[in-house]
Amino acid sequence: MKPEVVVIGGGAAGIIAARRAAERGARVTLLEKNERLGLKILISGGGKCNLTHAGGMEDIRAKFRPNEARFLKPAFYKFSNADFLDILHARGMATYTRPDGRIFPTEPADAKAVVALLTRYVEEAGVRIKYGAAVTGLVAEDGVMAGVYFSGSPSIGGGGAFLSASRVIVATGGSSYPATGTTGDGWEWLTALGHTLVPLRAALAPLYLADALPDHSGVALRDVVLRARVGPGGKEMTRWRGDLLLTHKGVSGPTALGIARDVADHHAEARAWAVLEADLVPDQSFEAVQADLRREVRDNPRKTAASLVAPYVPARLVETLLVAAGVDGVTRGAHLPAKSLNKLVATLKGWPLGDVRHIPLERGEVVAGGVSLDEVDPQTMRSRLVGGLFLCGEILDIAGPIGGYNLQAAWSTGWVAGESAGG
Ligand SMILES: Cc1cc2nc3c(=O)[nH]c(=O)nc-3n(C[C@H](O)[C@H](O)[C@H](O)COP(=O)(O)OP(=O)(O)OC[C@H]3O[C@@H](n4cnc5c(N)ncnc54)[C@H](O)[C@@H]3O)c2cc1C
Repeated sequence: MKPEVVVIGGGAAGIIAARRAAERGARVTLLEKNERLGLKILISGGGKCNLTHAGGMEDIRAKFRPNEARFLKPAFYKFSNADFLDILHARGMATYTRPDGRIFPTEPADAKAVVALLTRYVEEAGVRIKYGAAVTGLVAEDGVMAGVYFSGSPSIGGGGAFLSASRVIVATGGSSYPATGTTGDGWEWLTALGHTLVPLRAALAPLYLADALPDHSGVALRDVVLRARVGPGGKEMTRWRGDLLLTHKGVSGPTALGIARDVADHHAEARAWAVLEADLVPDQSFEAVQADLRREVRDNPRKTAASLVAPYVPARLVETLLVAAGVDGVTRGAHLPAKSLNKLVATLKGWPLGDVRHIPLERGEVVAGGVSLDEVDPQTMRSRLVGGLFLCGEILDIAGPIGGYNLQAAWSTGWVAGESAGG
């Protein structure tokens, strides 16, 4: 007799899990609380969907924290980036790799086209998809899965229902961007069944600052190094190189997202927020920038301090930078005391952005924390506590950096969960 498998959550991990379980011969029902699959995939990569990352799986694995990397090893080898791309390529979607290794669908294809393709991918395997079906609880009897409760949206007649199932894959994702359907539901049921939840923390999230620069919201700084220190002039705790975006409440963009998890960890452990600064000339040392400015002053003594700084920052930031350096912008270079010139250089090499005040978990691309990896078998994604229960995707305590790593973790763990539950 064909095994019955219920997959909860039609996001990245649940889609791949449902298809794989069906390929293995199981009768699969996919319960998704939204009226469509993959809402979070739809907004991924700014609507372009950074599908995965190029390179060997060993390099991809190394981007995760050591315990996560260890856990992901079998899944990454069973279902790699190439395996996922084969699915898209076989269905006519071309992809390309950016110089930084991030892989996207080739335009005009975008995240919407990816979701459409993956929806067909699940449907063509005969998976029964119930849209608008929000699971409200899991039932286990004598340590073995027995079924799931779900409440139906008006589109499926409303009301509650029980679906008996001896094999259940939970793929309900994390809890960021709750409007996409990921409201952390799964964690509640799984802790009720005895699983341990590693405390949730922001990862890949914007940083709110005590002294944000709302007037400069929207200004982007290209290729800078954003550093976090334990205090002003204190020990550096983390850094990220890339673009920095000033927002109403603080900073965002790849650099901010890149350091968010370390800053959140430090806050949780030390009960203190980090102090941020940005190196706006990361390829040059203090001395090299100093020499450049001195040469400029010598060659153009009438140039003002504002004009000296202008080549290094967007026009809207010149005044802010001068204020931070304590230098009057109209002062001619020839009249700038050496101390002031050095202060300008120091500000370019470490523009003080002040204290972090908050990291909004719900605005992150992923959350760190989730079901403890010790309680899940990495070879099968099987719960070590409850028979017939499988977990995959962001519900697990996994959070990679930006670059397509998180979707790859979802595709790979989803495939393994489907492979084991469906066989
Ligand atoms: C703005 C943004 C941009 C991102 N960009 C990228 C990117 O470009 N590349 C990348 O690698 N990663 C990106 N990520 C991260 C990536 O989207 C996630 O890591 C990935 O989607 C996690 O997959 P998942 O299947 O575990 O969860 P999800 O894809 O979140 O899917 C979970 C599904 O479960 C459903 N669900 C939840 N609760 C219930 C319930 N009670 N009953 C039924 N269904 C339920 C949800 O509706 C949802 O469809 C981005 C995230 C965000 C928020």
